[in-house]
Amino acid sequence: MRLFPRRVVVDDDGVATDVKPPEVIKKTPKPAIGRAVHYVSHGTPGGEYGKCCRAATITDIGGWRTTSTQQDDETHRILHQKWDPDMMGLVVHNPTGTFNNTTVPYDSGEPGTEDPQMCDGLEHPGGSWHYPHIR
Ligand SMILES: [Zn+2]
Repeated sequence: MRLFPRRVVVDDDGVATDVKPPEVIKKTPKPAIGRAVHYVSHGTPGGEYGKCCRAATITDIGGWRTTSTQQDDETHRILHQKWDPDMMGLVVHNPTGTFNNTTVPYDSGEPGTEDPQMCDGLEHPGGSWHYPHIR
Protein backbone atom coordinates (compact mmCIF):
# COMPACT_ATOMS: atom_id res chain seq x y z
CA MET A 1 0.00 0.00 0.00
CA ARG A 2 1.31 3.41 -0.93
CA LEU A 3 0.64 6.40 1.26
CA PHE A 4 0.29 9.81 -0.27
CA PRO A 5 0.51 13.09 1.63
CA ARG A 6 -2.81 14.88 2.07
CA ARG A 7 -3.32 17.48 -0.60
CA VAL A 8 -6.09 20.01 -0.76
CA VAL A 9 -7.30 22.50 -3.31
CA VAL A 10 -8.75 25.76 -1.97
CA ASP A 11 -11.29 27.47 -4.19
CA ASP A 12 -11.97 31.20 -4.42
CA ASP A 13 -14.41 31.01 -1.49
CA GLY A 14 -11.78 29.43 0.76
CA VAL A 15 -13.35 25.96 0.71
CA ALA A 16 -10.76 23.21 0.82
CA THR A 17 -11.33 20.01 -1.12
CA ASP A 18 -9.15 16.91 -0.82
CA VAL A 19 -7.32 15.88 -3.93
CA LYS A 20 -7.64 12.14 -4.35
CA PRO A 21 -4.45 10.15 -4.77
CA PRO A 22 -3.98 8.54 -8.14
CA GLU A 23 -5.88 5.29 -8.51
CA VAL A 24 -3.66 2.25 -8.45
CA ILE A 25 -4.68 -0.11 -11.19
CA LYS A 26 -3.63 -3.74 -10.85
CA LYS A 27 -3.19 -5.23 -14.27
CA THR A 28 -2.79 -8.88 -15.01
CA PRO A 29 0.28 -9.24 -17.20
CA LYS A 30 -0.21 -10.53 -20.71
CA PRO A 31 1.46 -13.81 -21.53
CA ALA A 32 4.46 -13.42 -23.81
CA ILE A 33 7.11 -15.73 -25.17
CA GLY A 34 10.10 -15.60 -22.84
CA ARG A 35 8.17 -14.21 -19.85
CA ALA A 36 9.07 -15.63 -16.44
CA VAL A 37 6.21 -17.37 -14.63
CA HIS A 38 5.86 -20.02 -11.93
CA TYR A 39 5.09 -23.68 -12.44
CA VAL A 40 3.66 -25.63 -9.49
CA SER A 41 5.48 -28.90 -8.98
CA HIS A 42 3.40 -31.94 -8.00
CA GLY A 43 5.50 -32.95 -5.00
CA THR A 44 6.30 -36.56 -4.25
CA PRO A 45 3.57 -39.23 -4.11
CA GLY A 46 4.45 -40.15 -0.53
CA GLY A 47 4.22 -36.54 0.57
CA GLU A 48 7.90 -36.20 1.55
CA TYR A 49 7.98 -33.08 -0.58
CA GLY A 50 4.95 -30.90 -1.12
CA LYS A 51 3.93 -28.78 -4.06
CA CYS A 52 5.99 -25.66 -4.58
CA CYS A 53 6.63 -22.90 -7.08
CA ARG A 54 9.34 -23.46 -9.67
CA ALA A 55 10.77 -20.92 -12.09
CA ALA A 56 9.47 -21.36 -15.64
CA THR A 57 9.63 -19.56 -18.96
CA ILE A 58 6.78 -19.34 -21.48
CA THR A 59 7.72 -21.03 -24.75
CA ASP A 60 4.29 -21.26 -26.40
CA ILE A 61 0.98 -19.44 -25.90
CA GLY A 62 -2.35 -21.21 -26.07
CA GLY A 63 -3.09 -24.89 -26.37
CA TRP A 64 -5.79 -27.49 -26.70
CA ARG A 65 -7.48 -28.57 -23.46
CA THR A 66 -8.57 -32.20 -23.72
CA THR A 67 -11.37 -33.83 -21.76
CA SER A 68 -12.85 -37.25 -22.36
CA THR A 69 -16.18 -38.98 -22.05
CA GLN A 70 -16.14 -42.69 -21.25
CA GLN A 71 -18.81 -44.76 -22.98
CA ASP A 72 -20.96 -47.20 -20.98
CA ASP A 73 -19.27 -50.26 -22.46
CA GLU A 74 -15.88 -48.89 -21.31
CA THR A 75 -14.25 -49.87 -24.58
CA HIS A 76 -14.63 -46.47 -26.18
CA ARG A 77 -14.05 -42.94 -25.09
CA ILE A 78 -14.69 -39.66 -26.85
CA LEU A 79 -12.07 -36.96 -26.61
CA HIS A 80 -13.17 -33.33 -26.61
CA GLN A 81 -10.72 -30.55 -27.29
CA LYS A 82 -11.21 -26.84 -26.72
CA TRP A 83 -8.70 -24.12 -27.51
CA ASP A 84 -7.52 -22.46 -24.29
CA PRO A 85 -5.56 -19.21 -24.69
CA ASP A 86 -4.29 -19.55 -21.08
CA MET A 87 -2.71 -22.95 -21.73
CA MET A 88 1.05 -22.45 -22.06
CA GLY A 89 4.07 -24.28 -23.23
CA LEU A 90 6.73 -23.91 -20.54
CA VAL A 91 10.31 -24.82 -19.86
CA VAL A 92 10.47 -25.47 -16.12
CA HIS A 93 13.72 -24.78 -14.31
CA ASN A 94 14.00 -27.24 -11.42
CA PRO A 95 17.06 -27.17 -9.15
CA THR A 96 18.05 -30.58 -10.53
CA GLY A 97 17.26 -29.98 -14.20
CA THR A 98 14.77 -28.62 -16.67
CA PHE A 99 11.84 -30.12 -18.49
CA ASN A 100 9.56 -28.96 -21.27
CA ASN A 101 5.79 -29.17 -21.14
CA THR A 102 3.52 -28.11 -24.00
CA THR A 103 0.16 -27.98 -22.21
CA VAL A 104 0.20 -26.35 -18.79
CA PRO A 105 -3.11 -24.86 -17.60
CA TYR A 106 -3.29 -21.47 -15.84
CA ASP A 107 -4.58 -21.34 -12.28
CA SER A 108 -5.42 -18.09 -10.48
CA GLY A 109 -5.31 -19.76 -7.04
CA GLU A 110 -7.73 -20.27 -4.20
CA PRO A 111 -7.35 -19.65 -0.50
CA GLY A 112 -6.36 -23.02 0.95
CA THR A 113 -6.35 -24.75 4.27
CA GLU A 114 -2.90 -26.20 3.79
CA ASP A 115 0.25 -24.20 4.26
CA PRO A 116 1.54 -24.21 0.70
CA GLN A 117 4.94 -22.98 -0.30
CA MET A 118 3.32 -20.96 -3.06
CA CYS A 119 4.61 -17.45 -3.54
CA ASP A 120 1.20 -15.84 -3.19
CA GLY A 121 -0.06 -17.89 -0.22
CA LEU A 122 -2.81 -19.38 -2.38
CA GLU A 123 -3.50 -22.98 -3.22
CA HIS A 124 -2.65 -24.04 -6.79
CA PRO A 125 -2.94 -27.54 -8.21
CA GLY A 126 0.25 -29.31 -9.17
CA GLY A 127 0.98 -29.03 -12.87
CA SER A 128 -0.43 -25.50 -13.25
CA TRP A 129 1.22 -22.12 -13.80
CA HIS A 130 0.66 -18.61 -12.40
CA TYR A 131 2.30 -15.22 -12.40
CA PRO A 132 4.90 -14.77 -9.65
CA HIS A 133 3.74 -12.81 -6.63
CA ILE A 134 6.03 -9.82 -6.24
CA ARG A 135 6.25 -8.41 -2.73
ZN1 LIG B 1 4.45 -18.87 -7.41
